[in-house]
Amino acid sequence: MNPWLIATSTAVAAAAGIAAYGAVHPRAQIFGLTVTRTDSSRKLALTFDDGPNPAITPQLLDLLDRHHARATFFLIGRYVRECPDIVKETIARGHLLGNHTETHPNLFRRSRKEIRIELRLCHDAISHILGSPPKWFRPPFGMRNPWVIPAARELGYRSAMWTLLPGDWLEKPAEWLIPRMQPIADHAQRNLAIAGNSATKATGDILCLHDGSHQKINADRSRTLAALEHWLPRWRDLGLEFVTIDQAVSTPAP
Ligand SMILES: [Zn+2]
Repeated sequence: MNPWLIATSTAVAAAAGIAAYGAVHPRAQIFGLTVTRTDSSRKLALTFDDGPNPAITPQLLDLLDRHHARATFFLIGRYVRECPDIVKETIARGHLLGNHTETHPNLFRRSRKEIRIELRLCHDAISHILGSPPKWFRPPFGMRNPWVIPAARELGYRSAMWTLLPGDWLEKPAEWLIPRMQPIADHAQRNLAIAGNSATKATGDILCLHDGSHQKINADRSRTLAALEHWLPRWRDLGLEFVTIDQAVSTPAP
């Protein structure tokens, strides 16, 4: 085979591999800067995607209150329009709202114009209730192309990804989900021990869970609630603080 053809096809394959990494990997920065961790090992940012969900979000708000936890909710615009009262209640309880697009498409396959419309519609839905524009965006499925993060930035957003995605949307029991959230405790034990022994400043986790489903409203996410009932007191006992994504990047380590 012509060596030039081999080299070319290798380069094409490598470029495709890099593009796929940039599109999918939660910590990839190729298609624009995103926040991927908190600025202190003591801070755990709880984030919930795909709501509001009348079947789960009110229970989740009560659960978070019981554990004195603040969180960030990345909302789907069309659900915001259907359930404005839940969104108002979420704000009233001290949580932060973020944009998760209007209909939750895979933005990797969308044009620049389509991406702008998806962001803008959700932006308007949340702004209308909040009285001011939200500041944080998370792409559906974490999928990006070169236009996604710049389109978010045009509307004034910073984009937030995650360190841990336990897969709470899967039809699995809480007994399956709970161990998949163990890495948060493992990181806390390791990093807080390091922070206690030296000047090393370790970062903390952003946990991505789901109080809703992009496929339908009123989805069952009771396993997510059960797993949080298990973990929130244990994480607190380890010295973790539950913060919004704003607080996650706002101050130096305590
Ligand atoms: Zn989502």
